Amino acid sequence: MEQPLRKTVIAGNWKMNQTPAETTQLLEEMKPLVKNAYCDVVVCVPYIDLHAALQATANTSICIGAENCHWEQSGAFTGEISAAMLSAIGVEYVILGHSERRTHFGETDVTVQKRIRAALNEKLKIILCVGESLEQREQGITVELIAMQVKIALGGVSEDELKQIIIAYEPVWAIGTGKTATAEQANAVCAVIRQTITDLYNQNCANAITIQYGGSMNAKNAEELLAQSDVDGGLIGGASLKAPDFAAIVGIASKT
Ligand code: PEP
Repeated sequence: MEQPLRKTVIAGNWKMNQTPAETTQLLEEMKPLVKNAYCDVVVCVPYIDLHAALQATANTSICIGAENCHWEQSGAFTGEISAAMLSAIGVEYVILGHSERRTHFGETDVTVQKRIRAALNEKLKIILCVGESLEQREQGITVELIAMQVKIALGGVSEDELKQIIIAYEPVWAIGTGKTATAEQANAVCAVIRQTITDLYNQNCANAITIQYGGSMNAKNAEELLAQSDVDGGLIGGASLKAPDFAAIVGIASKT
């Protein structure tokens, strides 16, 4: 079968790091290092840094994303930011369902689905994160759990809307821990996600969707992970806070 042409996307997730001034500085350092990227480059930053990030990356190919959004357009939701607010300032991407949101802030597959609907309505591109905990992996329920997370999150998403969505497989036990899934483990679960897309939609959709791996990806392990047939990019936490490291991963992705 012909190898499908999918977009390779390398995205940084800065989490709760960087002030606006530090954002400008880090992106200025990154810009020349990733300017010849032969893949899509996205940097997702805290809400407070979005303006600085958009300014620093204007007229470059780096896209800026937020790390979450609320499902309502506006209203009495103190401390929240809506998808409409993000698109109003020119944000292109949003991460949804990150395991840190699920673990520390009580997010569920159902609230992730609602956030996806809101983001789709605002034409934002979405990086949907799914992943199992170590306990779940040891119980042998990774496949069922990942399929369920994907199915619930994509409830009500049309085939056309699916084009706005990237799925990131992020084993919870590998995030920020320095423990990386082996390339085989990462590829196997990314393949499960692709099969789930076939089941929900069709083979064409499954062939077209970008599936990233995330979890302690760095300049040393990126090559092997990105070489896997079902891994189409990376969602990078820690290593995205160092311009040379992030750029090295972008460089590797540009060659795969
Ligand atoms: C993440 O935050 O999505 C992530 C993968 O983090 P890290 O690369 O630090 O494990």
